[in-house]
Amino acid sequence: GSVIGVLGGGQLGRMMTLSGAAMGYRFITLDPTDASPCGQIAEQIVADYSNQDAARELARRCDVITYEFENVDAEVAALLEKESYVPQGSKLLYTTQHRLREKQAIEAAGVPVAPYREVKSAADMEEAVEALGVPCVLKTVTGGYDGKGQRVIREKEAALRAYEELGGSSVELVLEQFIPFTCEISVVAARNPQGEIKTFPPAENIHVNNILHTSIVPARVSSELQLEAQHLASQLAESLQVVGLLAVELFVTEDGKLYVNELAPRPHNSGHYTMEACTTTQFEQHVRAICGLPLADTTLLSPVVMVNVLGEHMEEVVDRFSGSDLEAEELGIAAKLHLYGKAEAKTGRKMGHINLLCHDVQHALMWIEKTNIWRNQNS
Ligand code: ATP
Ligand code: MG
Ligand code: MG
Repeated sequence: GSVIGVLGGGQLGRMMTLSGAAMGYRFITLDPTDASPCGQIAEQIVADYSNQDAARELARRCDVITYEFENVDAEVAALLEKESYVPQGSKLLYTTQHRLREKQAIEAAGVPVAPYREVKSAADMEEAVEALGVPCVLKTVTGGYDGKGQRVIREKEAALRAYEELGGSSVELVLEQFIPFTCEISVVAARNPQGEIKTFPPAENIHVNNILHTSIVPARVSSELQLEAQHLASQLAESLQVVGLLAVELFVTEDGKLYVNELAPRPHNSGHYTMEACTTTQFEQHVRAICGLPLADTTLLSPVVMVNVLGEHMEEVVDRFSGSDLEAEELGIAAKLHLYGKAEAKTGRKMGHINLLCHDVQHALMWIEKTNIWRNQNS
């Protein structure tokens, strides 16, 4: 097929379009916001994601359909599967849009997750805190992102308040043991319909205010742990019969254990480093996978640090990138800016990212410090 439909018109769809266009594919996105980041460079059907007529039109005009977020309406997903070709399938969405189903699927693949309990009532909540101990983390089962819909509970007395704050018995909740991680890493895996699987090198992720701030590659963990994380991601992609990308977020503990935190069945912010640092980008790999092409090489060509550009960083970033960057030159860094074409630079909104190609990730981290653009931020 030569026309790819993308449900969702955000930056992930945009970067998928940029990669896929270079491979000769045409893209049509469905998104409610006119001139969405993806719609600026692809054709766009302007409609809500749950609009069935719009979904039908997308199905009619496209040979292959993919999505760039996991909260696709179940009915729309079923409709698209019936009327077009959705290689990723609705089953993967069904699993990954629900934390409990996701954890069960991870366990079924033989991959460790933090101990957890389903919480359906105040009594469940008390029992769960008793069983798991503090600290622990209460999360809504659906809809959470960037740390929204979760509360860390540090003492038992605070449990019921957190439960009420997140919606109590009116929402589905899950309580997880808090994993005292030494770092967080992620692996993007790809699988095609022929069953071929490839993984990208793990990224070490630093969050600020629960939003991804930097991804550091190679991750500063042993090469054994990196291989193990890649192996677990492959195991998950195989067990879930993924077609396309599967991003796997993991915790690393002091004694070198890995626990999967969550999955995303799509390109991932922590995989943006691949755009300059790998032979193949995560976006090209996704397009290859959903189009049934052989997967391409994922070799890391250079150490790299990716730093996100949020609304509050925009002015200074644009300023900095309009002139020569002596600090980068001194540190032997190539700083590559990617912008998503979003009009309003709201605080906390992801406007773009910078890939800092370097000889040593420490140099890139130094550049981030020195520019002062990300000051006043503690992880
Ligand atoms: P995302 O934007 O990545 O989708 P999210 O809102 O889905 O985020 P999680 O990834 O589940 O949320 O959690 C956000 C962050 O909170 C994690 O990256 C981690 O730093 C911390 N966290 C979540 N669960 C745990 C846990 N069980 N133990 C320790 N830290 C945790
Ligand atoms: Mg999430
Ligand atoms: Mg997460």
